[in-house]
Amino acid sequence: NIIAHQVQRGVKVFDNVRNVIAVSSGKGGVGKSTVAANLALALQAEGAKVGLLDADIYGPSQPTMLGLKGGAVTKDGKTLEPLDGHGLQVASIGVLIDPDEPMIWRGPLAVSALQQLIKQTNWHDLDYLIVDMPPGTGDIQLSLSQEVPLTGAIVVTTPQDIALMDAKKGLVMFEKVNVPILGIIENMATHICSKCGHEEHIFGEGGAKKMAEQYGVKFLGEIPLDINIRLSMDKGEPIVEAAPDSKVAQVYKEIARKVG
Ligand code: ADP
Repeated sequence: NIIAHQVQRGVKVFDNVRNVIAVSSGKGGVGKSTVAANLALALQAEGAKVGLLDADIYGPSQPTMLGLKGGAVTKDGKTLEPLDGHGLQVASIGVLIDPDEPMIWRGPLAVSALQQLIKQTNWHDLDYLIVDMPPGTGDIQLSLSQEVPLTGAIVVTTPQDIALMDAKKGLVMFEKVNVPILGIIENMATHICSKCGHEEHIFGEGGAKKMAEQYGVKFLGEIPLDINIRLSMDKGEPIVEAAPDSKVAQVYKEIARKVG
């Protein structure tokens, strides 16, 4: 059983959480949050108990993407109960801040808020906690990588040169703080026209695979640019959950099996 094997290898970080995996990207808009949600659901479909921490302080999108209802819940005034997102245990910085206010916290404040969120949420026995990181490689990302006990990190990129350039900085950042890279996922890899089936490499081709080879890290897989992915996320029903037999869901499940 692959999951049991992965769990055995995992670093025990909290009493109730066996592996913490950061999903990161060099740039915003490459689909990091979309990948984090679908990968979490794919791990769950493989039989693991999974949580998702939305740490993207600049644009917390998991409440929308996972169709979360209601705000933060506390039973004792000190700790938070995770919210339920399609069976995932979810905590989002998004339910603690005003969605209409821009996030202007300074680095240390943001890091301590996120640390509190991860440590003071009552995670109930998790094999994996997926962390949807803020995009980029600034101070906040660096401190988070140092101070959250990560088992490893996944880097999401599109095949476009400018996205790859920033993704490389992400790889270097994790290497600097000794966080193992679990692999690279290429998102928006090819576009298949929903009318004629014509396939096009809108953002380029093969870049992430090459980058993985260059840095000696695993290439975990490629996700197509597919209108159903965007539509499902906007509805709060990620494609892995909404269309478990689709090709995209199968790709995510293959990636889930490779993680670890
Ligand atoms: P990030 O977290 O990197 O900023 P998001 O996950 O928020 O990016 O994705 C940005 C937008 O692109 C969202 O509207 C999302 O639904 C859409 N999107 C992400 N990946 C895909 C994909 N493979 N195909 C189609 N739309 C996608």
